[in-house]
Parts: sequence; C-alpha cells; structure tokens
Amino acid sequence: MTQINYEKGRIPGQESGIEIRHSLCDICSPGMHCGLDVFVKDGKILKVEGTEGFPINNGKLCTKGAGNRQYVYREDRILTPLKRVGERGEGKFEPISWDEALKLISEKFLQIRRDYGADKVAFYSGYSKHYRFMLRRLASVFGSQNYGTESSSCMTSGLMAWLIASGMPMGMNMPNAELVLGWGANGFHSRYPMIRNMYKNMEHGLKVITVDPRITPASQRLASLHLRPHLGTDGALALGIAHVLIEKDWVSHEYIQKYVHGFEEYREYVKAFTPERTYELTGVPAEDIYKAAEMIHEAHGICVPESSTLGHHRNGMQNYRAIMSLLIITGNVDVKGGQVPAPHSFMERNCGFETYEEEFMEERWPKDAPKAIGADRFPLWYELRKDMQANALADNILKQDENSVRAILALGMNYRMFTEDAKYIEAIKKLDMFVDVDLFLTDTAKYADIVLPACTSLERETFMPYAGGQVWMTKKAIEPLGEAKPDTEIISLLAQYMDLDDDLLKGGYDACLKHILRDLPVTLEEMKASEKPLKLPDIKPYVFGTMNEKGWPTPTGKLELYSELIAAHPEWGLDPLPTYTEPYNPDPEKYPFRLCAGARIPNALHSRLHDVPWERSLLPEPSVEMSMEDAERLGIELGDDVEIFTNIGSLTFKAIPTATVMPGDVFIYHGYREKDINSILDGTNLDPYSGFPAYRSAYCGLRRCA
Ligand code: SF4
Repeated sequence: MTQINYEKGRIPGQESGIEIRHSLCDICSPGMHCGLDVFVKDGKILKVEGTEGFPINNGKLCTKGAGNRQYVYREDRILTPLKRVGERGEGKFEPISWDEALKLISEKFLQIRRDYGADKVAFYSGYSKHYRFMLRRLASVFGSQNYGTESSSCMTSGLMAWLIASGMPMGMNMPNAELVLGWGANGFHSRYPMIRNMYKNMEHGLKVITVDPRITPASQRLASLHLRPHLGTDGALALGIAHVLIEKDWVSHEYIQKYVHGFEEYREYVKAFTPERTYELTGVPAEDIYKAAEMIHEAHGICVPESSTLGHHRNGMQNYRAIMSLLIITGNVDVKGGQVPAPHSFMERNCGFETYEEEFMEERWPKDAPKAIGADRFPLWYELRKDMQANALADNILKQDENSVRAILALGMNYRMFTEDAKYIEAIKKLDMFVDVDLFLTDTAKYADIVLPACTSLERETFMPYAGGQVWMTKKAIEPLGEAKPDTEIISLLAQYMDLDDDLLKGGYDACLKHILRDLPVTLEEMKASEKPLKLPDIKPYVFGTMNEKGWPTPTGKLELYSELIAAHPEWGLDPLPTYTEPYNPDPEKYPFRLCAGARIPNALHSRLHDVPWERSLLPEPSVEMSMEDAERLGIELGDDVEIFTNIGSLTFKAIPTATVMPGDVFIYHGYREKDINSILDGTNLDPYSGFPAYRSAYCGLRRCA
C-alpha cells in the first residue's frame, strides 16, 4: 500500500505536525494586505498560501506574496541591534543589547533637542506603514514637526488633488459604474483586487478606457479604448477631452450650476486644448480624443482608480486635477457609480467606519514648533499635509546651517527612492546620528550609527481594517527571528527611554489601538480571538449626494475647478486652475528620449524584493525597454548593453526591444542597486505643487555600447 508522506506533501494535521496559522502579507500597499495561510512546523515556515474567503485576496497571492517565506528568511535579516564600528556605509557593525541601543539613541536625541531644538531630529517612515500613527505621534510628543514618509513620492499627490477639488479623500463606486477611466492603472502588475472587481463588473456592462503610453495587460484585456499619451502629458489629454465635452455640450449644466465653482474660468482655459493641439502635445490622435469624450458622455457613473503613477511628473498634481475635472463637469462626483467621498478610517483607507486615528496623530502636534522641512518650497504640500516633504530633506541637511536636521530616526528608509540619491548619502554622512529600523541590512542601513531589527508581518500581530467595516488583529505565524521586535514596540520603547510625556505611547501598541478604536462595537480582544476579519454591525452604506447637498469642505462649499485656496496665496506662485505645463527637458537635442523610471513589474515592489531569489529570477538584470523601431534604427538587439545618459550621469542596461513601447520612449524598472536609475535623475526636477519627483517623465540619451 502506498504510504502518504504528510510532511513532504505539506499536509497539515497530526500526522505531519504541520499547522496552518492565519497571518498577513504586507509587502505592498495597505490597500491590499492579503490574508496568508502560513504552514508552520516546529516554529519554521514551510510555505504560504492565500487565505480562502479573505476580504482582499480570497485564496490568491500575487508573485510577490508567494515569495513571503524567502522574504522572511532572507540571509541579510538583522537579528540583533547593531552599533556601527566602521566608516559610514562600510557595513561594519557589532551587536549590542536593546538596552544599550535604546539608551544611546535616547541620550543623543534628548541632547540634540536640548542644544539645538526638537525639530533638529527628523522622523521618517518608509515601508511598512502599520505603525505610522504611532511614529507621527512620537515626533509630535518629542516636539518635532519634521515627520515625513515615503508618501512624499507615493499616492499623496492624487489625494492632494481631491483635497483641492472637494476638501476630502475620494474613492470609486465601481460596482455601479458604467465606465472606468483607467488612467495609469495596470492592475495586473499591482493592485490586483481592482482587476477582479473590474472583470466582475465588465460582465454587467462596465467599460474601461485605459490611458497608458505602453501596451499593458490592462490595455489588452480590459480596455474598450486605449489612449497612449506621451509620458507626462496626461493633463493636456484630460484638458483636450474636456474641450470636446464642452464644445459638444456634453457637460451637466444643472450639476455645474448647483455644485461646481470656477466653471467659467475653466471653460476659458480649456478652449486652447483643441483636439489638434492636444494631439501635438500628447501624440493621441484627435479621433481617439473624440471617442473618449463620447464614451464619457454616454456613460452614467464614471470613476477613476487611484494611481501613484500620475503624480510622478513635474506637472503631476495638476495632471490629476485635470483628470478629476472630467468627472466634475460631467456630474460624476458624489453620485452612484461615480467618485464618492472616502473619509479615512485607518492608514488612509476608507473602510466604512470612523476611528480616532487622525485625532491621535494631531492632538499632540507641536503648534509652536518651526514649520516642517519643505514647507517654504512646497507650501501647498505643507498646507494640505502638514508633513515634512522628504524630497527636500537632503538639501536641508547639506545646507549645514542653523535649520539643518542633525539626527534622523528612520523606519524602513530607502535612500534610493529619491532622485539624484547620492545627495541623500552625503546628507546622512553629515548627521550627528542616523538610526535605521529595518528587516534587512539594506544599503541605507549600512550608513546608520545604530540599526534596530524589526520583524515582518508574519512575526507580529497587526490591526487591519478592510472595506465594508471589517476589522481584524492578524496572527503571529512564527516568533520574531533573533531579537527582532515589532516597529510599534520599538516606538513605544523609545518613548519610554526618552521618558516622553505620553502614557499612551509608553503603554504600547494595544493601548494606542484601544484608544483610537474605542467606539467600535467589537473589542481588540474579540479581534484577537477571531481567526478571520470580523464584520462590524450597522455599517451604513453611503447615501449618494450627501456631500453635494450638504456642501463640501472647500472655501466655497462647492467642488472647485478653480481653487480658492490657491488663489488666496498668490505668493505660492501656483495656478488655481488645473493648468498644464510641459515636462522638463534640460536639452532636447542631447536628451531626445522620454524616460520612465519606475514602471511596475509584477515581481517587485520598488527594491523590496530584488534580493528574494524567486522574485529576482523573473527579471535578474537591470534592463531598459525600448521600441522595436528605435532598436532597429540604432542597431540594438535583445540583451545588448545600452548606455542611458541624462544631465546627471549615465548607466548601462540590458536592452529589451519590445512592441509594447512607443518610439521615443524608454522604460526602466528601478531599485536595482547595481544600476540605480534614480541616481541619474535630476533631483531638482520636482512638482512645485506636491514636491514629487518626475520619475516618469525625465529625458535621456541612449546609445549602444561598443
Ligand atoms: S504583495 Fe501581493 S500578496 Fe502581498 S499584500 Fe500585496 S497584493 Fe497581496
């Protein structure tokens, strides 16, 4: 008789000694955070699968999530606190105790606060994000406004655009939509659940317009119409579509009259964006612009997914505004199937219930402290966000004057995410103290004076809310490796060691959560006892039209095409209308190629997975995608070495000629330490509205290497 080897077959049960523990993947954005079934034996992870019935992933995992076991057990996991013994960047450290590390940090931070002021210590958060509400409060209680995050370059530009237009975060009501404007959205490479919902809704007639310079899985499998504007010209395209909508009288006059401010000024402005001129600016043929306008006119219920990509241009936030304006003038905001209010429940996500997270972060805000770094250069960012704009941090430090930061507490910082990133290393070298909390001894951590070991989401409990009023405390699948600790515990320990005046922070993660979740009808203990997310009772669906009738939290109480907030500050030098400016090219003759640094690939999230063997194997070498036409013209073949040069520097990549890329464009994925594309992007090429770098509309030259 055949013997079943339960252990080898990874079959859970008594025979194999394998147990399934329910945990969480938090490799990508909190908008996902999929349920994981972790197969564990003797405290070790054998494999992971997606949790059936889980709100986001329902049994599925993406390429990245499937690599969780390799991610957790990466060889460069930091297992003890470390103190630098070599030069900064050399990577020479000695292990020290938690007590010694926390004392060294606390004494130095308090000394800097005493001698130079609290704002000379900056607090920074990269990935992950679950602890941010505590880190924000730690900075405030310490007395520093200089709290910033990787959101200085992520999704916030789009959020800012909605804050200007409506005064609040907005989201899609896709189940009732007839048309999705999939602008820069390729859910096959990121934000997978959106694709599942789109497919489901397409069965009921949903149509999709994909707007992307490349041919992508989304453009091929979902789109009824694919518009391919040149990189960074999305705003011009949106204004061109608006021109047709207005010319054809396909706008909603009644809606505009009741709920919209600034239509006349906007109409005047878009007059110049005829389809012919829009074609010249964007490369999108006039007939496609008409077609898009017609589809918008015919649909009842149109919405736009969130997409970080649109903010990564010098004109990024204005591009967002121009796209959103299409929904406003056609009456698709705060209506069934349109864009609807999405106030944040937790971690900037709308889950259908309220918490005290924002109050928790804001109530101890040091009101008399100097404004955060970047407030003078990016005043709109600061007005709407009140955070430090991290893209201005290196310049602040390198100035070495009385306003310069002298120490940073960074959690998951990756200096390579900044453009012209060598500046960040120069800046870090000037600090009196740099503390990095991370899972791995990353290139950034190597420059730290003290490194503290954090643990992955599989080694801790994490509060997670999901849409529709679902809440859960995820389970620890294994004990933290070595002496690693949850980031939240590290923040709480720092508050204790510095003896800051805050019993909540000192009380730890659970105490803080209980405080901010105090009005929920289920307790933290009930969430911990459950094996899956709990559904809160009495979650009331949003009543469409509420905000239109009640009035929006904007200066005029209406949806603003013309921003009265910006108009009230002429000293900012920003435009109240969603105006268009061309991407910046320092020398069109020398740099004729449009360069997108950071197009998504399915096996990576920035650089987080480049050292995970399964993931790396899918695109092992730093590569540049270019059109077949350009490759042929320049005599370049697959796998050839190609030099990419900008006004900052040059790097070589392996060529991938492809039919998915338009002539004149090149696409490079970022985060490869050996060919770091951000190191040759101009660090001054930033969006004056948001402070975001122009990762996706830079310019370069290209030649085949000898
Ligand atoms: S990386 Fe993949 S599996 Fe993990 S949370 Fe994101 S979408 Fe889910």
